[in-house]
Amino acid sequence: MPEGDTIRYAAKRVGAALFGHQIRSIETPHPRHARDRWPERLNGQAVRSVDAHGKHLFLRFEGGLTLHSHLRMTGKWGVYTPGQRWRRSPRRAWLVIRTKGHEVVQFDGPVLELMTDSRTRFDQRLAALGPDVLADHFDEHAFLCRLREDDPTRGIGDALLDQRTVAGIGNLWKAEACFAVSLDPWQRTAEVPDEEALAVVLAARGAMQKSVEKGLRMNASVYGRAGLPCPRCNTRVQARGQGEDNRTTFWCPRCQG
Ligand SMILES: [Zn+2]
Repeated sequence: MPEGDTIRYAAKRVGAALFGHQIRSIETPHPRHARDRWPERLNGQAVRSVDAHGKHLFLRFEGGLTLHSHLRMTGKWGVYTPGQRWRRSPRRAWLVIRTKGHEVVQFDGPVLELMTDSRTRFDQRLAALGPDVLADHFDEHAFLCRLREDDPTRGIGDALLDQRTVAGIGNLWKAEACFAVSLDPWQRTAEVPDEEALAVVLAARGAMQKSVEKGLRMNASVYGRAGLPCPRCNTRVQARGQGEDNRTTFWCPRCQG
């Protein structure tokens, strides 16, 4: 599943392809958007900015309209030069934006909507998002407030996935960040002091920032490594579903005990 770093990296590439370039066409091939008339509504408008908040991406146009996208489990952004072969089938494209030098494509996009700028500010789902883990200045205070307002019996690993507490962390970075700071993902948040809660988020932030810079991920220490030896102590890495959504969490029972 794409996490905040993937989305921010996509925003950088999409922004570089569209910002300052005349848009030649916008297509919405998926039947769900056949009647939305986005090509007409966005006709002649330049892209003002492309930004990300957590796992959400916003393509803002000059006329005050914004395309909001969330990839959920399966979606993907692609940026290609004209004629270059797309990495997914054109049948799976939901949005295609062409400039002279680029084709920007959103594939398999379960959330793709055109909204006014003011709605992006007041939309309840978006307004509820916690501070972005990859924001230029991460709002530590807001993160701690939201964490403490939440159910204190929740495991910290589960709490880190709640986008209302901190936006952008997914299952991979949750597992890796807990490992990096030797924190047991099953520990109740009530028993995790502020310093440790901050340390785990900042560990995720640091690793995700590197991923945004390079566009690729380092080898995981525990994520996806159930039954394999912990790189620090050789104990077998454990895996078990956690939280209401039963997302698999990976951890070393010895280093993170
Ligand atoms: Zn270990």
